[in-house]
Amino acid sequence: MSFADLGLIPELLRAVADAGYTEPTPIQAQAIPVVLGGADLMGGAQTGTGKTAGFTLPLLQRLARHANTSTSPARHQTRALILAPTRELAMQVEESVKTYSKHLPLRSTCIYGGVDMNAQIAELRRGIEIVVATPGRLLDHVQQKTIQLGQVEMLVLDEADRMLDMGFIPDIRRILSLLPAARQSLLFSATFSDEIKKLADQMLKNPQLIEVARRNQVSETIGHRVHPVSAGLKRNLLAHILRHEPDAQVLVFVDTKFGCSRLAHFLNRHGIRADAIHGDKGQAQRTETLESFKSGGTRVLVATDVAARGLDIDDLPYVINFELPHTAEDYVHRIGRTGRAGRQGNAVSLVCAEEKHRLAEIEKLIKLTIPQEVVPGFDPEADFFEAPARGRRRSGGADASGEARERKASDRGAKPRGGATGGKRPAVAADGFDFSKPYEPPAPPVGAAAGASDAEGDSPKRPQRPIPFLLGGLGRK
Ligand code: AMP
Repeated sequence: MSFADLGLIPELLRAVADAGYTEPTPIQAQAIPVVLGGADLMGGAQTGTGKTAGFTLPLLQRLARHANTSTSPARHQTRALILAPTRELAMQVEESVKTYSKHLPLRSTCIYGGVDMNAQIAELRRGIEIVVATPGRLLDHVQQKTIQLGQVEMLVLDEADRMLDMGFIPDIRRILSLLPAARQSLLFSATFSDEIKKLADQMLKNPQLIEVARRNQVSETIGHRVHPVSAGLKRNLLAHILRHEPDAQVLVFVDTKFGCSRLAHFLNRHGIRADAIHGDKGQAQRTETLESFKSGGTRVLVATDVAARGLDIDDLPYVINFELPHTAEDYVHRIGRTGRAGRQGNAVSLVCAEEKHRLAEIEKLIKLTIPQEVVPGFDPEADFFEAPARGRRRSGGADASGEARERKASDRGAKPRGGATGGKRPAVAADGFDFSKPYEPPAPPVGAAAGASDAEGDSPKRPQRPIPFLLGGLGRK
């Protein structure tokens, strides 16, 4: 199927071709005709599925019917409102709107909190058809009467489940009350809790339901790996991994803002260029950091969950969980930054004994036993492989031996590395580097279709090369 088959106008087909897309993703193939037809839509789709173009392209086409080239602000009233939970996501969505609308006389802008309102007010005064906004700042503008919502024909609520998590639902309800009742509404969410369904009931009229990924289903193109390691050795292991993959861009997740800056500092001190992004940084700094990472200027970005939510970064081959998230669903969101739009990705987690229960929760949620691999020189705590049974021992002893560890690891489907060196060279150098391992291909992603979809070229921006698994190629070049 091509984009032309979906009934898109030539201006949009040109923009899509300029973006390098050759065929629609499943959510696009399903959503575009529904939205073009004027129906409300409830879309179950995660970031990475191409959902942004799925709603933006038909939205633009519907607005284009009455677009005009007049310079008068009065002729450019706000006709579409797209709400997103975070500043970063709002900015990315607006970037997509600009990309796809470049051959149309439609104006867009992005409004979000944390920055001065004046520039946004000046922009809104010009007359803007498409406003992408975070809820709080939009309401600030409503309050100050710097935006009029009385002419809104189309509403999109993106990442509704995130809105809920972040406490935005009262704001959303207020915004809904300010919009004309006769409008087309689209709601996108990765998950459908009862509360989301309740919100959908209030917001949508006879919606068509489109779902492309099951709740909390992870992309089939992601290979998962756990490296059991003691908490104290984690940052050294991270540096070790990053040194062995000097060209790859990596997004590293940590739990706290403090830990985020500290880890980036540690990496820089050890010669690995890294930046940190977290909620305490000013908006200008966050934007600059993100731009630098997206353009390849920064190789390693250390991020907290909130700062990284909704990040759309092209061609990101690795996500590393320096710490596992407290909530299993956040694992799915984190690793959604890799393996996007049919590409292959790697999700690597450094897990200490204390985090075993989080790992168990994640595995239960994603219905997958993640292979574990101890990296020689970076052993976990003695009790890592003990079953989480009542009365378990915390001391070392037999379970702490490499043999026992490997046996238990292989019981779980892991590939123990330390025992298979071939005896050519010492397995582990003094600094913890393992020079003995030959190249190993990545662990096959879950689901056989993964490689096929990549090979069929549904991701034209990405060069079709195999991605070596981080610790696969340990030989120094
Ligand atoms: P999204 O799920 O909207 O965040 O999109 C994820 C990524 O897929 C973005 O980098 C888009 O540029 C890309 N993308 C969207 N649609 C297509 C397509 N039809 N073909 C290839 N890449 C796409």
